Amino acid sequence: FSYLDTAKEKLSAELKEKQDKMMANGSSKAMLSFREKLPAYKKKAEFLKAVADNQVLVVSGETGCGKTTQLPQFILEEEISCLRAADCNIICTQPRRISAISVSARIAAERGEIIGDTVGYQIRLEAKRSAQTRLLFCTTGVVLRQLVQDPDLTGVSHLLVDEIHERGMNEDFLLIILRDLLPHRPDLRVILMSATINAERFSKYFGNAPTIHIPGFTFPVTELYLEDVLEKTHYHIKSEFEQRRRSESKKDPLTELFEEADIDSHYKKYSKLTRQSLEAWSPTKLDLGLVEAVIEYLCRHEGVGAILVFLTGWEEITKLLNNINENSFLGNSSKFRVLPLHGSMSTVNQREIFERPPSNMRQAPSSLVIVLLKIVLATNIAESSITIDDVVYVIDCGKAKETSYDALNKLACLTPSWISKASAHQRRGRAGRVQAGVCYRLYPKIIYDAMPQYQLPEILRTPLQELCLHIKSLQLGTVASFLEKALQPPDPLSVQNAIELLKTIGALDNLEELTPLGRHLCTLPVDPNIGKMLLIGSIFQCLDPALTIASALAHRDPFVLPINRKEEADAARKSFAGDSCSDHIALLKAFEGWKDAKRNGTDKAFCWKNFLSPITLQMMDDMRNQFLDLLANIGFVDKAKGIKASNHYRDDLELVCAVLCAGLYPNVVQCKRRGKRTALYTKEVGKVDIHPASVNAAVHRFPLPYMVYGEKVKTTYIYIRDSTNISDYALLLFGGNLVPSTTGDGIEMLGGYLHFSASESVLNLIKNLRCELDKLLQR
Ligand code: ADP
Ligand code: MG
Repeated sequence: FSYLDTAKEKLSAELKEKQDKMMANGSSKAMLSFREKLPAYKKKAEFLKAVADNQVLVVSGETGCGKTTQLPQFILEEEISCLRAADCNIICTQPRRISAISVSARIAAERGEIIGDTVGYQIRLEAKRSAQTRLLFCTTGVVLRQLVQDPDLTGVSHLLVDEIHERGMNEDFLLIILRDLLPHRPDLRVILMSATINAERFSKYFGNAPTIHIPGFTFPVTELYLEDVLEKTHYHIKSEFEQRRRSESKKDPLTELFEEADIDSHYKKYSKLTRQSLEAWSPTKLDLGLVEAVIEYLCRHEGVGAILVFLTGWEEITKLLNNINENSFLGNSSKFRVLPLHGSMSTVNQREIFERPPSNMRQAPSSLVIVLLKIVLATNIAESSITIDDVVYVIDCGKAKETSYDALNKLACLTPSWISKASAHQRRGRAGRVQAGVCYRLYPKIIYDAMPQYQLPEILRTPLQELCLHIKSLQLGTVASFLEKALQPPDPLSVQNAIELLKTIGALDNLEELTPLGRHLCTLPVDPNIGKMLLIGSIFQCLDPALTIASALAHRDPFVLPINRKEEADAARKSFAGDSCSDHIALLKAFEGWKDAKRNGTDKAFCWKNFLSPITLQMMDDMRNQFLDLLANIGFVDKAKGIKASNHYRDDLELVCAVLCAGLYPNVVQCKRRGKRTALYTKEVGKVDIHPASVNAAVHRFPLPYMVYGEKVKTTYIYIRDSTNISDYALLLFGGNLVPSTTGDGIEMLGGYLHFSASESVLNLIKNLRCELDKLLQR
């Protein structure tokens, strides 16, 4: 004991000495004076006292006040100063990978250290930490997975759960676990951090835990609704065009006319719409032209300052990025830095976001000189977890992609919908960090008035299978009784659906216990269906196609949907599919084509010609590598032998389609002949249609009797979005549980079971094959 104590004392003393030295250093002093100006600093003593005196503390504060970067740091400094560093292990969770990285980098810089020293991060498959690390930023998912090995979080002294106001599913889940854990870990300190939204609710959940509020400062932000925006921009843009017409007679008159007409038509369209009913405002359509017009206006007529644009997703970010860069509607685009900011981005480009353009390159605003500007195109990630200080203008489209789940029809959708008033307020606040700002809301006041106060928590609007699997792997009892303890418990029907699905795909047995497959799926941080596809793909040695298709399903379709060249785009997709009748094979071939083109340096042209998004393909490539590491971790791929060994049958497309069936089951529809056409049926919702963008859209007759699909979406019809035609063999081998049937012929799907009539010998053969497959999963 005494030896251990001495070692600990020594370590604590070393860390203190290092910290003291750092603080005396000049650049740290400059940082310190910056930090002292943050509102969080004024609450430092009060905060540290509350942490010492209470097991749970809730801290709320305006975004940017210093919660994330300062509060964990206060604890760290205090622990080091008081020579307790050896026993201190602070973890701070972040809902997204990108914020875990950027925040830890920031704190390391504030402390004058390199990242991975006393401050580090750990996200899925990526970490920068060392034995010195005392403050670790993790994604919430990482902490949840750590709980599998260490259910009491034994080594952790302080756990800060950040961004709880977002009500993400992982955070809500972690809160249930923590509430149960606290009595067993009296020494553990839990600090919940939230933007100024509904902090009392969390305090109540933890038996009226004390709350600290950090009052923030922001400069005043002018709010403009669409009606004001149009009036303001229209006047200026029109006069700008008139001026240009006079001064630049050389300019191509057609372009000019077009541009002018465009803005005029926007004005007319929107000024009329504002007076119309709410229904005219579909949240699914976002007019990028309008966004562009406002950016153009800002660049030409307003002062210096970064512009932050809130869009709904990757697709729009990419589109707008291309419009600005390629069409360069702002003149010389080299004067602009247009930066995308999206949660699933790779980590490199994120750094640029915080950099301010060198001040000598900024010029005074004038109607003809274009000012060097930073334009950040972001999703709601920039709402609260990432603060870009120099933003002066916010353009808010008022929408965000939101998952929703229809438990009755088992339909999951990811569609843009109107944000809440709380989010709108949050977005607006991003404009007033360094000076007075303006928020351009691209929706009329009546829409704002109709927005809900808060967004529904994620746990109430997403399919729960991943969560249920996680609850099982943590041995937290029955899923239903566990989830009843949530801040806002989900609908029992959603829970039941999730359990049923997990049984159907073979992850849970009839007693709701994890099967060997289920246990593997727990370790793969992806949707269980995608996880199963990866496992089966590696077992059947067509790993490469499985990785590619899984990455597209987990991320997004690499095909872009150009509005005016739809037919050409459809043809490109079809040519990749060949005669496979499969959207999944089309994207597989497209990806492989891109890889080849990349080797020859012709990838840009390849993407252009085939309507593919290079950014998405690159992201898929990154994800493939991540999946590969995950499979190697659990022994399904032998990296030492090279992945060739897992790829013997990579070109056997029939087998690939069977693997797809294993992954996508029970998303199956039967193709039934109806005269010259084929009709598709599912048990839950009856007739469905193939999405018009699918390679199968115009096919009247399919060679094989079933169709597996990735996603069912409900718009005017119920569409299956991406589909693959599969054989009955694939279904018999890789589909759900088999029930021998004496009536009927062939296969029928009923409640997750495949009722199958065949001779005894055929049935036995199939059963034996399935047994062999189960054995392969027991490693
Ligand atoms: P909160 O968590 O309360 O929203 P943060 O702790 O994230 O606030 O940020 C506090 C301040 O620190 C921000 O307003 C910004 O000025 C600064 N800051 C945060 N991250 C960075 C960064 N990566 N680069 C530069 N400044 C940053
Ligand atoms: Mg924060």
